Amino acid sequence: MEKTDILSLTLEELEAKLLQFGEKKFRATQIFQWLHDKKVTDFDKMSNISAQTRALLGENFYINSLKIQKRLVSSIDNTVKYLYVLPDGNKVETVLMEYHHGNSICLSTQVGCKMGCKFCASTKAGFVRNLEPSEILLQMYETERDSGRTIDSVVLMGIGEPLDNFDNVIKYLNLISHKSGRNMSLRHISLSTCGLVDKIYKLAEMKLGLTLSVSLHAPTDEKRDQIMPINSKYPIKELIKACGDYFNATGRRISFEFALIKGVNDDIGTARELISLLKPLGVCHVNLIPINEIREGDYKKSGFVESFKKILCDNGLNATVRRTLGADIEAACGQLRRDNI
Ligand code: SAH
Repeated sequence: MEKTDILSLTLEELEAKLLQFGEKKFRATQIFQWLHDKKVTDFDKMSNISAQTRALLGENFYINSLKIQKRLVSSIDNTVKYLYVLPDGNKVETVLMEYHHGNSICLSTQVGCKMGCKFCASTKAGFVRNLEPSEILLQMYETERDSGRTIDSVVLMGIGEPLDNFDNVIKYLNLISHKSGRNMSLRHISLSTCGLVDKIYKLAEMKLGLTLSVSLHAPTDEKRDQIMPINSKYPIKELIKACGDYFNATGRRISFEFALIKGVNDDIGTARELISLLKPLGVCHVNLIPINEIREGDYKKSGFVESFKKILCDNGLNATVRRTLGADIEAACGQLRRDNI
């Protein structure tokens, strides 16, 4: 019989499995704590579990693990980029960042990406597969173990489109925030999407406390079509409507990401269009990202980031500029790859 990836099971799923094996339900909580709080990597370390139950665990389950293939440390800002090898040999990148408010980690959710955004390196080598909940989780557990740093916040902004791996990402959120496990508040987690409208509605129904970031990058269909293929499936009007409904359902303000590209979306006219688009939404936030240049593309950084921000703020939109971290090790937004470091 094939063994089960125990780190991908929610507590309820683990309870159900253990009951099938004739074990008591409370054992599941004990085992869950060993896995997600104490983070043992071997069933035999679970000292309050009987030898018989540990043998049963070993026969039916396995504890997944990732290997660090490379670790690069930025000499500018202490950002660390990890290249992790998954059990099947595929690879993903993870980035550990230091802010004044604590350590933050950027996690990948897929091996590669299907979305095809023109400015993003993560999509260039295509899509291979979704990450399992344990593989998303382990990027953080392994990084904490390796760095000796405690992670205070998570951004699901690495390789992949999190809402395209919906069920596994929701399971990951359940696991990371579980009080018997790592117990991280969802308030400390941001999920970034290129705008999968149907999944934004599905997420809204769950009323989770996380922050939803939407990669907008252009205020009109004409411009967005040129840089983000997903826009032909979910045009801006539908996307903005979903964002408004998300805010109404959850009370959580949306953060819109806007990567400024020289000569594409950094002019005054675009700023005005953006204001007209977002003002009616009410509470929201615009996160301006100076575009990070990638090998495959010819998009260049805009020189107008601060003036663009000023126009937005002067017109009542809440806007900030995202700090670029790890630029010397290609660890910044849109620079992560599944195939090298
Ligand atoms: N697939 C998700 C999350 C991954 S990317 C999404 O699209 O939101 C995280 C953020 O980095 C997104 O806003 C993405 O559009 C942005 N990004 C991608 N490539 C970039 C680049 N070259 N420079 C700056 N930001 C980039």
